[in-house]
Amino acid sequence: MPRKLVAGNWKMNGLRQQLSELDALYKAKSDASVGILICTPATLIESAAALMAPGAVKIGGQDCHANIAGAHTGDVSAEMLADAGATAVIVGHSERREDHGESSDMVRAKAVAAHRAGLTAIICVGETLAQREAKNTLDIIGGQMAASLPDGCNRENTIVAYEPVWAIGTGKVASTKEIAQIHNFVRERLIRRFGEEDGAEISLLYGGSVKASNATDIFATDNVDGALVGGASLAADDFLPIIKALENTA
Ligand code: PEP
Repeated sequence: MPRKLVAGNWKMNGLRQQLSELDALYKAKSDASVGILICTPATLIESAAALMAPGAVKIGGQDCHANIAGAHTGDVSAEMLADAGATAVIVGHSERREDHGESSDMVRAKAVAAHRAGLTAIICVGETLAQREAKNTLDIIGGQMAASLPDGCNRENTIVAYEPVWAIGTGKVASTKEIAQIHNFVRERLIRRFGEEDGAEISLLYGGSVKASNATDIFATDNVDGALVGGASLAADDFLPIIKALENTA
C-alpha cells in the first residue's frame, strides 16, 4: 500500500448495488502514487475485490476477530477477510471501542491477527470530546498507541489513523493546528518505538469529517499522509475529489 493513501470506511452501509460506486473509482484511478482502499462490509469484500482485480483500488475489512477460527458466532477472522480478497483491515475504530467495548488490549490482539494473516492493520486512536476538554488528549493517544500497537509493526504491515471521536460523522473537523500537534506526537512515538526506518515511514492518516472542501488543507498538514474517510467515501462523486486533493499534494 503506498504511504499516501485515502481509505474509505463504508461502515454498515452498502448492498451489492453500491458496488457501482467502486466501478466509478476504478475507472477514474490514474495516479499510482496515491493508494485507494475501500473497507466495505464483510458481505461485499469478495465481490468488491473481484470487481477491482487487478487494479490499484484495494479492498479491506472493518474489523476482525483475534483468533484464526473457532466458536465465535458472528465474528470474522483476519484469515477469512484475506481469503475473501481483503488486503487490509481497520482495527480499534472508535465505534467498535464504544459499541463493542473493545479495549486497546483487544485491539492489539486484532492487529496481531491481521499481521498473521498478511493484512495491513489500520490501527485507530482518538480522544473523546470530554478527554480533549480535560486536556488529556496526548495521554489518551499515547496510552492507546502503547497498548493497541503490537511489537512488530512496520511500514508494510501497519497504518495508524488518528480519529478524534468528536469529529467522526459530526461535520466537526479538527483544526490543522490540532491535527499537526497530534500527528507530530504520534510520529515521534512511532519512531521511538519502532525505530527511524519504520517509525518514520508508517503511513499516518487523519480521520473525522474529511470531505472535498477541507481535504487540501488537511493534506498540507505536517505528518498527514492521507485520510480515513467515512461518510464521504460512500459515493464516488464525493470520494474522488478527496483522492485528487491528495494526488495534488503528493
Ligand atoms: C470514520 O468512520 O472513520 C470517519 C472518519 O467517518 P466520517 O468521515 O464520516 O467522519
